[in-house]
Amino acid sequence: MPSTLHRCPNCFHQTLLESRVGRQAVMQCDGCLGVWFEDGALNQAIAHKHDNISVYDHEQSLGKRIGVGGRLCRRCDVNMERFYMLEQYEVEVDCCPDCDGVWLDQPEVELALKSPQLNSALATLSKQLTWRSMVFQFLTGMPVEYNLKPHRTPWVTYAMMAICISLFVAGQLNGQWENTLYLYLGLHSDAPTQWQVGQLLSHQFMHGSWLHLAGNMYFLWVVGDNIEDVLGHWRYLGVYLGAGVLAALAELVFFDNAQGPLLLVGASGAIAALFGLYMMWFRRASLTVMILVLQFKVAPHWYFLVWSLTNIVGMIMGESNVAYMAHLGGFLAGILVGWLLYPWVLRNNPLLNWLSQPEVKLRRTKYIS
Ligand SMILES: [Zn+2]
Ligand SMILES: [Zn+2]
Repeated sequence: MPSTLHRCPNCFHQTLLESRVGRQAVMQCDGCLGVWFEDGALNQAIAHKHDNISVYDHEQSLGKRIGVGGRLCRRCDVNMERFYMLEQYEVEVDCCPDCDGVWLDQPEVELALKSPQLNSALATLSKQLTWRSMVFQFLTGMPVEYNLKPHRTPWVTYAMMAICISLFVAGQLNGQWENTLYLYLGLHSDAPTQWQVGQLLSHQFMHGSWLHLAGNMYFLWVVGDNIEDVLGHWRYLGVYLGAGVLAALAELVFFDNAQGPLLLVGASGAIAALFGLYMMWFRRASLTVMILVLQFKVAPHWYFLVWSLTNIVGMIMGESNVAYMAHLGGFLAGILVGWLLYPWVLRNNPLLNWLSQPEVKLRRTKYIS
């Protein structure tokens, strides 16, 4: 029993005192506050914390063995072995090879208790590509997303998509309606100012073609759910519509009126702002790119870097029909807002905060089942 272990493997001269982690009896150092778990005690503590886990074998799910460390098990008088806490999480923990006790420094205790959640988050993020995702991207040219599953249902994202799709379908059904919808809801550079105020919002729900609609809706669905999850429904709605207004203003300001009046439609500007937010907040997510028939998972910043370069090139080439300034303006606004809110986002999302740590070594191609 713990009575034979009365010294701390870490600071060594302190006395270990009986303590509790959840309902689990442990020994804690009153100096460095590190915790000693007897054989099996860590598993018990983790199982208690997660009521849906009856048996959790921490020894089984530890990460790579690093080797023999410098700390002694004070009971067995042998050097403890160091392991990474998880497969892709390079925080080191000490295990005694003789008595199977585990020593955790104080900051590691909370993380060890959360390790099933952390492990499943890492498994989700590092899932391997499937042939289905390759076929999908090959046929559509659209990226496949690997990210955490949102906790809240993204009602606002769904509502935006429903409005965009309904308006487009309505226009397709009746040519007269189509003209009226574009006239009133599209953003016209030559419309009276009081109309333009409303059109700054309404144009975001109008689209020019099936392809335009499908591309925007796919990206809105891919990035919108996670951002809505982080921001909450109402803040997300405000950020989304506000960004769409800003993006349209960027297009209006830089538009050359000599080309004739501008008619701007589409959710692209608002969605480009979501790209900026996504890039800032979901650094461990992946989007896929395809080169010929080879598919790769890349970090969002690489994906959106290439995306913004294609916009810059398009703008320089002067290709018409695409609102490059709205895309770039929305994207930059998203990056700025994403950067400003980043500390708030980390405070309110423990999992994102944890994933932002440098000890997390995500391997994007690693398969964990
Ligand atoms: Zn100590
Ligand atoms: Zn031991």
